[in-house]
Amino acid sequence: MAIRQDDTPPNRRFGIINLVLIGFGVLLLFSSFLPNQGAQQVPRVPYSLFINQVDDGNVKRAYITQDQIRYELKEAPAEGAPTVLATTPIFDMELPQRLEQKGVEFAAAPPQKPSFFTTLLSWVVPPLIFILVLQFFARRQMGGAQGALSFTKSKAKVYVPDEESRVTFADVAGVDEAKAELTEIVDFLKTPERYTAIGARIPKGVLLVGPPGTGKTLLSKAVAGEAGVPFFIISGSEFVELFVGAGAARVRDLFEEAKKKAPCIIFIDELDAIGKSRSGSMGVVGGNDEREQTLNQLLTEMDGFAAQDKPVIVLAATNQPETLDAALLRPGRFDRQVLVDRPDLSGRKKILDIYAKKVKLSAGVDLDKIAQATSGFAGADLANLVNEAALLAARAYRTSVEQADLNEAIERVVAGLEKKSRVLQPDEKKVVAYHEVGHAIVGHLMPGGAKVAKISIVPRGMSALGYTLQLPTEERFLNSKEDLEGQIATLLGGRSAEEIVFGEVTTGAANDLQRATDIAEQMVGTYGMSDTLGPLAYDKQGGSRFLGGGSNPRRVVSDSTAQAIDKEVRGLVDRAHDRALSILHHNRELLESISQQILEKEVIEGDDLKNLLASSVLPEAAAVGG
Ligand code: ZN
Repeated sequence: MAIRQDDTPPNRRFGIINLVLIGFGVLLLFSSFLPNQGAQQVPRVPYSLFINQVDDGNVKRAYITQDQIRYELKEAPAEGAPTVLATTPIFDMELPQRLEQKGVEFAAAPPQKPSFFTTLLSWVVPPLIFILVLQFFARRQMGGAQGALSFTKSKAKVYVPDEESRVTFADVAGVDEAKAELTEIVDFLKTPERYTAIGARIPKGVLLVGPPGTGKTLLSKAVAGEAGVPFFIISGSEFVELFVGAGAARVRDLFEEAKKKAPCIIFIDELDAIGKSRSGSMGVVGGNDEREQTLNQLLTEMDGFAAQDKPVIVLAATNQPETLDAALLRPGRFDRQVLVDRPDLSGRKKILDIYAKKVKLSAGVDLDKIAQATSGFAGADLANLVNEAALLAARAYRTSVEQADLNEAIERVVAGLEKKSRVLQPDEKKVVAYHEVGHAIVGHLMPGGAKVAKISIVPRGMSALGYTLQLPTEERFLNSKEDLEGQIATLLGGRSAEEIVFGEVTTGAANDLQRATDIAEQMVGTYGMSDTLGPLAYDKQGGSRFLGGGSNPRRVVSDSTAQAIDKEVRGLVDRAHDRALSILHHNRELLESISQQILEKEVIEGDDLKNLLASSVLPEAAAVGG
């Protein structure tokens, strides 16, 4: 795709007006100089001399104008001296009398009429200057510079796909799931008739969610490239400006431009810059007026364009979907969400292949090894890695990139990444592997209607180092006491595995413990599931949650009851912990073999996982309810 700034040059008009003005300026100069030209040759004398000459009776005739008196002598005062002289008039009421007495022939010039040019200029120049000033501002606005009037124009860049530089899905690797979902969008853009003919509503908004550097922008460009439609790109932060209302005007402008070029894609990066939840600013009156107006305008525009033959699809990217305003995610807006996550092993290999084509690799390079060593890297990190390696090779005067360069580059990139995101050291990766497999085995054997669908030790999102995905087999609204006990045991499975294998625990289980304790507290305090305490609700439900407190304060209870509650909670968690330990001791070999596999593959899911977990055994002592 070629970059093309979308501007219609007003420069030509600007030039014409300039020329006209200069022309008038020149005329003005001439018209003021011309009449004086003759006068310059007449010698000037003091007024007193003129009066003397009149009194002497030597003046033959005089011609009086506002600026000067020109007069002719009867005879020259000296041989060869000029007889025509001029003087500057003084306010002298007696002059006509004096001249009459001496018989001087005199006349006055008619009051000076403004010349044609002067009239024309006085009418034409001021408006021209005004137009010129307007043009000046308009030019700055069109050029996209930070001019005073530029704030209502959207700063979106437009890419129009052309054959050489077109980005397609082939250029994006490691995000297969996202690609599969976006293929549908390409189809909508290519053949909208097929969908509108049957009455289907083409989606307007797709939200790409994922950590930074995972290629959300590239992916959107690829959608445009595949569909062969123009692509507008703008960052959410570019909407928000100093002036209230400017952002909204920009949104309006952007959609207007886009509609002219439909079918097309609008890509809004960092949607959270304008789409942050409005409830958060409640109470601060006018605190976020500008952002709110911009957001409202965006919603209005998205609601505005109805399902048409030429769709405009808005793709937006964010790495904080939880902060977005709920109104943005409603049907008809960004109702589709596509997860663009960090790539797994095979994804990283594919990404490395793509970027490695851009540099000269020596024959012995094994990209598989590099892919294995870069768990947690996003696409942009891998691109950076290959480039760093090429720089290292060039610095050492080598003609191609070698394995050693790539290895050293990994260290460099990791050092940079450790500051901003998570990259696991090999020993940490091992702990995470056993931890997650611990969750999976316990989760598989516990009741609760959720089956373990996926284990991953690719760091995901902002906090998880690895995860075990449990999918409910049916939608459940009610949980029995056994289900909840099983959930607590499953949550403690990770920590239990660490205890068994490494004999110590890490900080990685903090979130599990939090959640396990929460469930146990709710069982006792909210659901009345404790035999000793009976069916009493000790927690106060209500308002606090809406005010952002999140914690449930207890009812006023006696000290002994409070102690009893704590004891019950403690007992539930302890029993679940014992259960998890017992299960994992019994399935120690399975824990070992699955962990080894996941360290190699990073992700195990589907039938592979089902088959592996099928050989797990539930020991008698760990059965729930016992
Ligand atoms: Zn865990």
